[in-house]
Amino acid sequence: MRCDAHNHLQDDWLAPHLDRIAGDCRGLGIGAMVVNGTAEADWPRVAALAGRFDFVRPSYGLHPWDVAGRSPAWLETLRARLVAEPRAAVGEIGIDRWILESAPAEYFPAGSPPPAPLAEQIECFLPQLALAVELDRPASIHCLQAWGQLDELLRSHARPRRGFLLHAYGGPAEMVPGFAQLGAYFSFSGSFLAEKKTRQRAAFRVVPTDRLLVETDAPAMPPPAPWLTHPLPPSPEGKPVNHPANLAATYAGLAQLRGVPEAALTAAVAENFARLFG
Ligand SMILES: [Zn+2]
Repeated sequence: MRCDAHNHLQDDWLAPHLDRIAGDCRGLGIGAMVVNGTAEADWPRVAALAGRFDFVRPSYGLHPWDVAGRSPAWLETLRARLVAEPRAAVGEIGIDRWILESAPAEYFPAGSPPPAPLAEQIECFLPQLALAVELDRPASIHCLQAWGQLDELLRSHARPRRGFLLHAYGGPAEMVPGFAQLGAYFSFSGSFLAEKKTRQRAAFRVVPTDRLLVETDAPAMPPPAPWLTHPLPPSPEGKPVNHPANLAATYAGLAQLRGVPEAALTAAVAENFARLFG
């Protein structure tokens, strides 16, 4: 069985294609996917998908890009949802310096509030991490250009007993052992199959086999052309849309990168997925 450790099936860009996506994924033996809510507005949509498709594992969190738009009651709403859904995970949560310092203008749609500064992102990250600890759930963590800070935060706070996912891990290979010791799993994104992603490719050669996961982050982060088996029409804004069934080719590419048989990789990843996400 193949497992997508991180996607956003609730996204508007995928909504017109849901039946086709479900059929394509079933056909490729994709038996489980963690569908990550990112803000209060999309949590009900994640819950609805979990009711509709047996392969959906719901996850709820406030993404660092959505921190600025949160309501005063966001944390209580999140807690109530997690308590009511014992199978749900925590995520996507995290910290992001890239969105503050390096993101192109297209990441700031007109009318949306500017992204929250790092201190405010951390104020929202820590209580969500604490909720995962308290309720014994795995947590899916997003981090861009803030790896030292994330390492410090994880070392100085309680961490989920089952572990946590560093989704689309883009930190240095040298930090992999330290994060693994803290309980990290690392998910490989199909977009890392591009040869130019040298830092990510180096890191995923050294991730321990028992901490390895695979993800699409669909509709984001599509794989490069040779690995893109399932194209979808672009978004209304003209952006490429990643189909969750591109996961199968991503497994094949990762097996090639690590020089291991794909069947062995698939079996190890399934075990890891079950250990982390239950
Ligand atoms: Zn994501």
